[in-house]
Amino acid sequence: MECKGVGLHSGAPVRLRILPAPPGSGIVFHRTDLDGFEVEATGRNIARVSYATSLMKKGVLISTTEHLLSAFIGTGIDNAIVELDNLELPILDGSARPFVEMIQKAGIRKQRRPRSYMRIKREIELREGNKFIAVYPADSYSVSYTINFPHPMIGKETFRVDLSDGNYLREIAPARTFGFLHEADAMRQQGLIRGASTDNAIVLTRDQVMNPPLRYVDEFVRHKVLDLIGDLALVGRQILGSIVADRAGHAMHSALVSRLLRDRTLWEETSLSEASDESQHAAVAVAARAL
Ligand SMILES: [Zn+2]
Repeated sequence: MECKGVGLHSGAPVRLRILPAPPGSGIVFHRTDLDGFEVEATGRNIARVSYATSLMKKGVLISTTEHLLSAFIGTGIDNAIVELDNLELPILDGSARPFVEMIQKAGIRKQRRPRSYMRIKREIELREGNKFIAVYPADSYSVSYTINFPHPMIGKETFRVDLSDGNYLREIAPARTFGFLHEADAMRQQGLIRGASTDNAIVLTRDQVMNPPLRYVDEFVRHKVLDLIGDLALVGRQILGSIVADRAGHAMHSALVSRLLRDRTLWEETSLSEASDESQHAAVAVAARAL
């Protein structure tokens, strides 16, 4: 299971492979260009969170992890080795759909060990200026996200999704990242979006979409949900809780991850092996199978 592409920010060419991993190992990145150096997909390795989420361990970077990690949560992959031969994951079409298709094509295998969930026990609310993110106890994983961009194509959008019933694949995975043409030069000067193009992002001019059509009328907020799911994957397991975010962004998502990992009184580890509805909450870890 392999794909090739360029990094959104670095523009660097990269080849990525997903391999199965034993139960309990979580998601681990291997830099094949650096003797297979391993960086675990956990909040402890979060490095930078401006326009994308990057992991770093002993100076080794893994950039723009959120779309693949989001696809893993959406397809129920708990354990996998992700090999890449450069510092940034490929952006592909700007959404999580190509990753989902790769995983589905390779197949998903249930593992014998019950999946371990993070069940939220107490609410947490974080505020920073007009940015807000919170998580509340719930029996399933749901996300409600609000964005507000002063742009005629976006404005205020709210999207709410419960991540059971395959909703992720239908409602979230295809939503692409987006950017504003008038910010592009300044971002390039900061070393960002060097791999961006109209093939891998929705590009907005001052009053319209440069590369229509949109995949959803509210594709923008759906992509924020995609990012949030990918960033929260850094808690290292599936969440049972209800997330509410308002104009949050990667830094706030990561702040919530750090808070959760720091304070073990906020959640408990649980498996749903005795849950009655096994079809929706298959209480098994799954792994991608190599071709
Ligand atoms: Zn994104």
